[in-house]
Amino acid sequence: MILFYYRSCAALAALLIMLGSLIPMIAHASPSFTRAEDTTVPLRVSTGNEEGYTIKVIALRTDSGLFVDIESFARALRLSSRQESGVLLMEETDASPGSSCQLRSDNNFAMFVPKDAQRMKRIVQLQSAPVLRDGRLFLPVLHACRLFTLWLDKDVVYDYSSGIMTAWLWGTRLGDSVGYVGSLRPGEIQAAIEDRKQIPVEQGTVIKGVNVENKANGAVVMFAASGKSVRARLKKPDANGRAYLTLQNASCDVDALTKLFSGGLVKSVTPISSSGGELQFAIDLDKEGYRIKTVDFQRDEPNNRYLVYIMSEADVKDIRMKEKEQQIASVLNSDVEKWRLNTIVLDAGHGGHDPGAIGVRGTREKDVVLNIVRDLGNLIAQKWPDVKVVYTRKDDRFIPLHERGKIANRNGGKLFISVHCNANKKNHIKGSEVYILGPHKSKDALEVAMFENSVITKESDYKERYKGFSAEYLIMSSMAQSAFAKQSADLAVEVQNRIGRPDSTNGRGVRQAGFMVLWTPSMPSILVEAGYLSNVEEERVLRDRQEQTKIAYRVFQGIESYRKNYEREQLAAMGK
Ligand SMILES: [Zn+2]
Repeated sequence: MILFYYRSCAALAALLIMLGSLIPMIAHASPSFTRAEDTTVPLRVSTGNEEGYTIKVIALRTDSGLFVDIESFARALRLSSRQESGVLLMEETDASPGSSCQLRSDNNFAMFVPKDAQRMKRIVQLQSAPVLRDGRLFLPVLHACRLFTLWLDKDVVYDYSSGIMTAWLWGTRLGDSVGYVGSLRPGEIQAAIEDRKQIPVEQGTVIKGVNVENKANGAVVMFAASGKSVRARLKKPDANGRAYLTLQNASCDVDALTKLFSGGLVKSVTPISSSGGELQFAIDLDKEGYRIKTVDFQRDEPNNRYLVYIMSEADVKDIRMKEKEQQIASVLNSDVEKWRLNTIVLDAGHGGHDPGAIGVRGTREKDVVLNIVRDLGNLIAQKWPDVKVVYTRKDDRFIPLHERGKIANRNGGKLFISVHCNANKKNHIKGSEVYILGPHKSKDALEVAMFENSVITKESDYKERYKGFSAEYLIMSSMAQSAFAKQSADLAVEVQNRIGRPDSTNGRGVRQAGFMVLWTPSMPSILVEAGYLSNVEEERVLRDRQEQTKIAYRVFQGIESYRKNYEREQLAAMGK
């Protein structure tokens, strides 16, 4: 049940008109139940000092639950009542100054009119409209109790287990704490009048999740709902930057949806349940950090979401700077130690029962690559004493592919270099290849996603304002998103430049090895195919111990060159 206080005279007048216009409908009112059996419900009235009385209230046991006769209920509470032209008028006779309550069949509103003209009239929306039957107005027992609670500001309750209603007519009034103070938009009232329809009683909604999406020019707070669509209204931020979204007939898991957000326009979202089935979310905005332009509410019907758009004054130049920083920070965590290439994982392919490719003269891939990797590791250790070298294997043993990835990740590797030798039935094929390990995403899909996510497009001039912005953001974002892929590619190019031989026949160079990815590397990763064991000439080179060291040295030079560029880029980007 929802309570509205009308502070606006126009709105109140409109509602009174609406109440009046519904009178003709009473004649056509039909009960919402097919079977009904006359009964009574005991009402215990406590008047304080252990005094009181119990009285029977006329009721109907129906196929849609227990309904009580409002007039009988009112008399039991020692209220006067009369019906006039289908309008039930009830009055507090004892209370001073007291008030009256008006309600009609098939009308979801009840009006409380204080005798003291200085006091505000109140209108409550009932959970269901009273049903007219044999000249009596009936409400479901719980709704009836709620009606008297709201009107009299006294506790009136029904206990299912005992089947008894109890009213406490003494003590302090609940006052304004009953129900939620709000207002109906005039447009809604007008629509209700024109349609001569009641505002439908909604079955309610449950808010399942709250999310904040930060955009370049603001943020979107998304409330994911399940169940029926309910009315919602937004109260613009107050001086403290707190806005409220109020949903009628809604509920949620308050603990689960109390959320703090850091580093953005939205600081926190806090659900507040109030009596009367309303659910309110307090949205705290960072007024210090952002200049808030507008706050809008939008119902996303197809996705059953309630969206609050907060648009802030956007300094495009500043945003670009910030975003660049953020993108890089998200990859590097802005921690020097984290981005520094301080751990390199070396992976010699195959091993143990898996010899890998076998050359024309019986050279085994697993032996060649182990030598290269060990030479490479020694070189790194010698040249870069601050860099830790991790081997997936240092001897002739078999390590499953997924285990190699785990070793790399577990050791906090910053680069992963896997070394292999190739083989082909066409034994004239020779040359080296470098593959990128890592997932590859469709660039188009990424572009679309990036564009969709970059700015709130609700500003009329957003196209002009953010001209060129999306493209730049896209490039940075996609780079950051597939940062490892990009770094892997850089590394692959550098290594390829060193180990590639002019007489290479395959002409393949750097390639992405989607098929190779049996695990997700969480670092830039490459796979070096040092040459073809199936080619007589290359096998001779690959099995030569000195040549192996030369290959290792060339790979090292590639890494060295990559490292220089990488660190220079990072330092520049971080402004250090
Ligand atoms: Zn291999």
